[in-house]
Amino acid sequence: MAGSAGGNRGVIHSQLLAGQKALVTGANSGIGKATAIALGRAGADVVVNYVVGADEAEKVVTEIEAFGVRSYAHEADVSDEEQVVQMVSRMVDELGTIDIMVANAGLQRDAPVTEMTLAQWHKVIDVNLTGQFLCARAAAKEFLRRGVVPEVSRAAGKIICMSSVHQIIPWSGHVNYASSKGGVGMMMQTLAQELAPRKIRVNAVAPGAIRTPINKDAWDTPEAEADLLRLIPYSRVGDPEDIANAVVAVASDLLDYVVGTTLYVDGGMTLFPGFATGG
Ligand code: NAD
Repeated sequence: MAGSAGGNRGVIHSQLLAGQKALVTGANSGIGKATAIALGRAGADVVVNYVVGADEAEKVVTEIEAFGVRSYAHEADVSDEEQVVQMVSRMVDELGTIDIMVANAGLQRDAPVTEMTLAQWHKVIDVNLTGQFLCARAAAKEFLRRGVVPEVSRAAGKIICMSSVHQIIPWSGHVNYASSKGGVGMMMQTLAQELAPRKIRVNAVAPGAIRTPINKDAWDTPEAEADLLRLIPYSRVGDPEDIANAVVAVASDLLDYVVGTTLYVDGGMTLFPGFATGG
């Protein structure tokens, strides 16, 4: 693994999540893939969800199995109620339960508002917001059925919503995406409030600009990257591993008292960098 985040490999204790069962949606690409691998490295068994790209999903499974934990790939569309229910039910059958749900799958369908079709609006809301609701609901049901197992974790379960800096930063030309992530923020807080008394921790991780296929246009030429860096006080584009490491930490008992929080992992993008020299 190249890049600055590669050096973090040894930092994550290989037993931090030992005995836990995790599911990551959209885990055959980008942030989801890095997260699934990091969870496996930390000792969790991992279900690798994907909707297209079975080969890449199988490669992720092989990488995770090399850590000596269990893993398998599962095809499901997170915006389909029946498929999500079935995915979690298979996990309970095969791995016994679920301890960590990482609702990561997401997409963009960009257009200026006057050109945005209703189909583009619905697609993004269905996957990015409704998909996270369906995954959170299915996981919560199993967490409540099983309750806390103290040898495994202090919590009955952890739900981690993959949000975005666009949970709070408006984004012209992306009203569907920004609305979906704003919705994820409020959904996460509401679920956290509702489920915390039952010992379920719900939190969000909000990436800034991370080098993945979703935003390739923003970083794959030197000019685009220079433009992007103007928005990042820490002066580097993030790597998927930056987000994966944050998810492992939030999922672990090290952060057991963190409930209903959004952890921004963004190199300072939410610090209004335009005001560093102006305002
Ligand atoms: P990506 O395109 O590499 O990965 C997205 C994954 O979601 C893919 O595996 C894709 O197949 C999957 N997916 C899409 N629709 C699905 C569906 N209906 N069911 C199941 N899986 C589906 O992009 P990424 O950057 O890794 O994005 C992962 C998450 O991170 C998304 O929620 C995205 O909004 C968020 N995010 C990314 C960035 C960034 O800079 N890359 C920034 C902020 C937030």
